Amino acid sequence: MGKEVAVIGGGVIGLCCAYFLQKAGNQVTIIDQSGLDQGASYVNAGYLSPSHIIPLSAPGVMKKGLRWMFNRSSPLYIKPRFDMDLLRWAWAFNRSCNPKHVKKAVPAIKEISIFSQQLFEEIIRAEKFTSHMEKKGLLMLCKTEKMLREEIKVAEIAMRQGLEVSVLNAGEIRNKEPNVKLNTIGATYYECDWHTTPHEFMNEMKMLLRNLGVGFLLSEKVVDLKNNDNSIEGVITDRRLIKADDFVLASGAWTNLLSKRTGIRLLMQAGKGYRIDSSKESGISIPAILAERKVAVTPMNGFTRFAGTMEIAGIDHKVNNIRVKAIAEGVHQYYPEVILSEGEKANAACGLRPVTPDGLAYIGRPSKCKNLVIAAGHAMMGWSMATGTGKLVEEVINDKKSSLDLIPFSPDRKF
Ligand SMILES: Cc1cc2nc3c(=O)[nH]c(=O)nc-3n(C[C@H](O)[C@H](O)[C@H](O)COP(=O)(O)OP(=O)(O)OC[C@H]3O[C@@H](n4cnc5c(N)ncnc54)[C@H](O)[C@@H]3O)c2cc1C
Repeated sequence: MGKEVAVIGGGVIGLCCAYFLQKAGNQVTIIDQSGLDQGASYVNAGYLSPSHIIPLSAPGVMKKGLRWMFNRSSPLYIKPRFDMDLLRWAWAFNRSCNPKHVKKAVPAIKEISIFSQQLFEEIIRAEKFTSHMEKKGLLMLCKTEKMLREEIKVAEIAMRQGLEVSVLNAGEIRNKEPNVKLNTIGATYYECDWHTTPHEFMNEMKMLLRNLGVGFLLSEKVVDLKNNDNSIEGVITDRRLIKADDFVLASGAWTNLLSKRTGIRLLMQAGKGYRIDSSKESGISIPAILAERKVAVTPMNGFTRFAGTMEIAGIDHKVNNIRVKAIAEGVHQYYPEVILSEGEKANAACGLRPVTPDGLAYIGRPSKCKNLVIAAGHAMMGWSMATGTGKLVEEVINDKKSSLDLIPFSPDRKF
């Protein structure tokens, strides 16, 4: 007989947890404060990226962040404010920006990304999804020698981890991407990366889960967790008390606010990012990251998506037009014939990435609570790591042997 499991949060992580849990014979209910059609899991660039193996907290990033703090159009922006959670997070982030941490984090990030990529494909095949998924790799396009040298160093780390990466000159890039004019001097090319159209997978997954019998309580906000003797009795929403055997916190950038209710302090900040969609024919056929501008470009099903910026500014969904404009300008610098219209920019949307200080998600049971599992904090990689996270959470809840080492992802880890 399976367990009753309440999953708080119906973004991609919550849906994937629900999928594996329900398939394993548990009865799952998803609770979400939204109508499940917006946020990070809908606006993301759709990459399934083992290529992103370097954690955000890498040497030099804090220095860059501080320099960019006064530039309202920079790709990484930390809004200066007095907030103890932000200060603790920034302290821990700074401590993680060192080569030793990067060395430890890289294999863990690679393993969960590859595990998830395989599971994503298996789900598409097994459930007969028609969601868009292509295996065309990812170009890291560079405009300057300095950036290219930096990207080659990253590519060498990726190669040592066994990922397929090559270095391309401008002519080789043109051969790969012949139908759009490009203004770059070189690129690293990650053949190992795939890309998708996020809303298609999200919609098919929600429909499948309903057919499998998963309950959905939407537009219902969890406001508190009812604790008793190191376990959770139920979650209190703005409408009722919901009881279950086990609880999964998959509430994205809001997770630390809820975990606090059980005395579990998770360091996390919301990292806002934007997307601009264009349905004009651009000729772009291979996903790319514009390395100097940190803009992601994805040819999705029927449109091209341009996504970027990491704005650490709290839980705030206001669209900042300066940043939207900076993304559009960045695109034009690399693809001189691609001009995003005023209408396309006006339709920009944002989402909040759940960012931990060390660039690794929290996956597992915190020692302070017997029937709670945390599945959050995947930052820029949540789309790539969602299916693997779902599987790992199912294994924890059903006391199975874990497919991957969960120690690097422990919610109890100290920074
Ligand atoms: C612009 C952008 C581009 C990105 N590109 C990529 C990419 O190409 N590849 C990649 O791997 N990742 C990418 N990401 C990151 C990825 O999108 C996120 O890591 C991922 O979507 C996080 O999923 P989640 O389910 O944890 O959070 P969310 O999608 O934010 O879902 C959390 C859910 O919890 C709900 N919730 C929160 N609090 C409560 C509460 N109290 N009660 C009830 N419900 C609650 C929210 O309503 C929300 O629906 C990108 C992100 C952005 C913003």
